[in-house]
Amino acid sequence: MTMDFEEIVPVQAAAPRAVERTETPTGEIVLKVDDLTVRFPSDEGPVNAVQNLSYEARLGRTLAIVGESGSGKSVSSMTVLGLHNPERTFISGSVMLDGEEIVGASEATLRKVRSAKVAMVFQDPQSSLHPFYKVGGQIAEAYLAHHRVSKAVARKRAVEMLDLVGIPNPDRRAKQYPHEFSGGMRQRAMIALGLVNDPMLLIADEPTTALDVTVQAQILDLIGDLQKEFGSAVILITHDLAVVAEVSDDILVMYAGRAVERGLTRDVLARPNHPYTWGLLQSLPSASEDADSLKAIRGAPPSLVHLPPGCSFHPRCDFQDLVGDACLSQLPELRSVAPGRLIRCHLATPDETLNPEAALIDHQEISS
Ligand code: SF4
Repeated sequence: MTMDFEEIVPVQAAAPRAVERTETPTGEIVLKVDDLTVRFPSDEGPVNAVQNLSYEARLGRTLAIVGESGSGKSVSSMTVLGLHNPERTFISGSVMLDGEEIVGASEATLRKVRSAKVAMVFQDPQSSLHPFYKVGGQIAEAYLAHHRVSKAVARKRAVEMLDLVGIPNPDRRAKQYPHEFSGGMRQRAMIALGLVNDPMLLIADEPTTALDVTVQAQILDLIGDLQKEFGSAVILITHDLAVVAEVSDDILVMYAGRAVERGLTRDVLARPNHPYTWGLLQSLPSASEDADSLKAIRGAPPSLVHLPPGCSFHPRCDFQDLVGDACLSQLPELRSVAPGRLIRCHLATPDETLNPEAALIDHQEISS
């Protein structure tokens, strides 16, 4: 690869984006997913990974996408990065990132968008950090790919980023390989790699699952701090509602490839209006409960090849008897029940919880 090093620019901290954290979503929309459907072929038939999904991410806000494994939360985010093999994936709908359409975009466009506009932090840092290259070198390379600067400037930027994410002795650490870092340090280095080009959107996919509880909290704090500093939009993909309560502004709950509930995190966790969200909250330990009293949602998520007719959640739903046949035969629409609040359930009614107990679940208590 040839590199033009003539124009040498000084390293500058990214200017904070003009965002204000507010209780209502007012930040500029940087990602708009509209009616997205993603299907893969399989020996058993098409896998309906994501169906008719719409959501948006805004500067300065964290959107949590929540669901069990197989709910489609990670697949939809991979689509944002254009990471699916177009020959083995059917994709329809629209994914607009900063005004650029991702669905159907050329590989050249996707390359330009990745890293410059959006970055991803995975559960396993090994999937982003190459084991055979020094950590600082990898961050510097990512910077060089989008900036006409000298290698020395890029190296300096890499050290600054390692410092920014809280890695001690960043100068020395930059010259080490990923295997010389602890799990938490590798995750920090991956965040430095993701943010080196000041992307407007950071997607963190189960970023703390493999870490112990103390390091988890540190990494989540770090992502929150960096979001404030950079003013970017964050999408946090997780199955952990305690994490959601702690760090997100908005929440999208997915089940079997579809959105089932959307709204402000504070409202949804305090008054869940979909039986699946309610079930997830019931299975969450709180300070006042012991593990034996937790209620897991019965059954398992359905096969995405053979989805149940009607509401996909009906085989596991404790509220289905209240509705009757409609749950078994009609797919509920995602309906607006209050400003910014959407529910996919035949039972959903504005400003009501499905179970009085749910109202007792206090957002603050969950996050403590
Ligand atoms: Fe349960 Fe019926 Fe609502 Fe589906 S539509 S979540 S089965 S009550």
